[in-house]
Amino acid sequence: MIKPILGVSKCLEFDNCRYDGKLIGNDFVRRLKDHVDFVPVCPEVGIGLGSPRQPIRLVKINKEKNLYQPSTDENLTQKMKDFSKKFLEEHGVLDGFILKHSSPTCGVRNVKLYHKIGKAVGYDQTMGIFTELVIKKFPTIVVEDEARLRNPVLRDSFLTRLYTMTRLRESLTSKDFLLDFCKNNEMLFLCYDHAGPKRLIELLSSYSQKDFEQKFTALVFEILNKIPDSDSLYRTYAYIFSLLKDKLTVVEKDYFDVIQRDFSQSLVLPSQISTLLYSWALRFDIKSIISQTIFEPYPKKLVQEYSKNRDYSLLKL
Ligand code: SF4
Repeated sequence: MIKPILGVSKCLEFDNCRYDGKLIGNDFVRRLKDHVDFVPVCPEVGIGLGSPRQPIRLVKINKEKNLYQPSTDENLTQKMKDFSKKFLEEHGVLDGFILKHSSPTCGVRNVKLYHKIGKAVGYDQTMGIFTELVIKKFPTIVVEDEARLRNPVLRDSFLTRLYTMTRLRESLTSKDFLLDFCKNNEMLFLCYDHAGPKRLIELLSSYSQKDFEQKFTALVFEILNKIPDSDSLYRTYAYIFSLLKDKLTVVEKDYFDVIQRDFSQSLVLPSQISTLLYSWALRFDIKSIISQTIFEPYPKKLVQEYSKNRDYSLLKL
């Protein structure tokens, strides 16, 4: 299995580098340690602020976003820009980033941007200054904050995008690898964009052009940059079924109709249909279906586990 190169805010599981001198434990980051190559970074410590340290905030100065420390009246913007540039140059490949939510440096969204220096001045919402520079340097990087990753749908989307973009990075070395990439991800892409696989194959014909790599990566990123809706999933499962149905018995076909109807009424999970289709593909050894990443877009061990540590004991009467 491939290993994505994943940046992470260092205060999540790696170091006591927060403004209050603490580390934030995070189960998901801990679980990822065996499956990705982490690149931990604390930009605030990187620019020489110690830990613990006095708070900093984002403030509009001359209509520009600035990183400012009220207790010292120091404008840290240039230092942060210099640090970020150096860090991003040193780490030329990053497939994704997990960032600490609401931080003026690492936050992805909903970070306070104060209207001016001073107290009780009001604020807008923005992105952390380091995160903004990361995205500017790597426009197709897969980014989330640790708070949103508690949501199972967003976590599944993050992992699917992260591992697919990593598979893409490793396939860019030849046209044949890219063709395999398109074939093996065809059904996954169909869940996101019905025209996606066709658009990618069309673009592949311009493989030898100078900016091909950039355009192809941007298109894959664009296709995946949404949450698939249930209609698209329904259509994709129906398509996979159409490739199998001639081999199935009448009873099996009828059963699939029932499962499909239940799915359209949200009575069964996508994973239940997917497992059924995969088991039929295995039985008939249909390699073009078995090889599809839709059945395991990222390592199974990263699927949210039924927590072994929780107390599920029932009340004893
Ligand atoms: S949020 Fe970012 S800058 Fe703040 S402590 Fe964590 S890693 Fe450092």
